Amino acid sequence: MRIKYFEAPDVKKRVEEIVNYLNFFYIDSPFVHCFRSTGSRSKRVIARIHGMGKIWQTALNILPVYIIEVISERYDKLSEDDKDKVLIHELLHIPKGFSGGFRVHKGYVDQKKVDTLYKKLKKLCS
Ligand SMILES: [Zn+2]
Repeated sequence: MRIKYFEAPDVKKRVEEIVNYLNFFYIDSPFVHCFRSTGSRSKRVIARIHGMGKIWQTALNILPVYIIEVISERYDKLSEDDKDKVLIHELLHIPKGFSGGFRVHKGYVDQKKVDTLYKKLKKLCS
């Protein structure tokens, strides 16, 4: 099966809300694109974030962009709460400088951080 990508306005909308509610001011949400994929071979991945290395930015003379890809087969089955947690996790990979690169899991992206932010989000949303 081939991987296919579709624009995901629902994910994009939620990402923008999360960025605003959680005050991730360093994230330039117009430059975070959201796609849904089908046909991925990976069995465990629910979502991933794609960045853009400095060399691409330099060669193409463009500003950095990020793409959050949700794997339809797994992401779409989750509850809204779990979807939020997945999106928070992916957003945490974006460094403060919005450079196109990533923050690693160790020290930056872990379940505890995600849970804390998720609780904060819930409070603000309700
Ligand atoms: Zn991760």
